[in-house]
Amino acid sequence: MVQLHDLKFTPFISEAEITLAIEQLALKINEDFRDEKPVFLGILNGAFLFAAELIKRFEGDCEVNFVKLSSYEGTGTTGNVDTLLGLTQSLENRTVIVIEDIVDTGNTLESIHRILKAEKVKEFKVVTLFYKPEAYKKPLPIDYIGMEIPNDFIVGYGLDYDGLGRNLTQVYKLKESSNMTNLVLFGPPGAGKGTQA
Ligand code: 5GP
Ligand code: MG
Ligand code: MG
Repeated sequence: MVQLHDLKFTPFISEAEITLAIEQLALKINEDFRDEKPVFLGILNGAFLFAAELIKRFEGDCEVNFVKLSSYEGTGTTGNVDTLLGLTQSLENRTVIVIEDIVDTGNTLESIHRILKAEKVKEFKVVTLFYKPEAYKKPLPIDYIGMEIPNDFIVGYGLDYDGLGRNLTQVYKLKESSNMTNLVLFGPPGAGKGTQA
């Protein structure tokens, strides 16, 4: 068990299971893109560890870049996603592989679609380590999924709770008896203003 701030988390997905999922994703992505010179586009902060482990298994030429997005949600049901650090290279006519830590509602994914369409990319695919099918509300395809998980709040392996937990080598989920009142959209306790991805 680990404690982060006021909440307790129990072990959920082991490092070995995560590694296996990444190896399987890498196999498929190598098959599909080895000769395409893709740009891997990691979504900070959550995807930093996953991006490193996935990209080092890629066997062709590739470029690597990152953007930093932050999802916000007001009182309504639609989320807004702000760009905190934007693109530093043109992606026009490139094959782009977006690397996400987790797809939840899909709001972040939707903004990425918008950004990449505006960039006039040749083609883009999305790879995510974790996916919550029960929470996903969008029609957009998710091309490569490492693992489907239930609609629980998880931390570790890049994913945080209010800034902590990203360095944990395995994934933990919120202990059922934890007090959830501070958890507003995975944001800082009490803030309720969303979270950095
Ligand atoms: P979205 O709802 O836009 O699909 O996900 C927004 C962001 O919220 C994700 O990129 C991720 O950073 C964060 N998020 C979603 N689900 C979880 C979760 O279970 N744990 C943590 N720590 N962050 C999550
Ligand atoms: Mg977060
Ligand atoms: Mg993310």
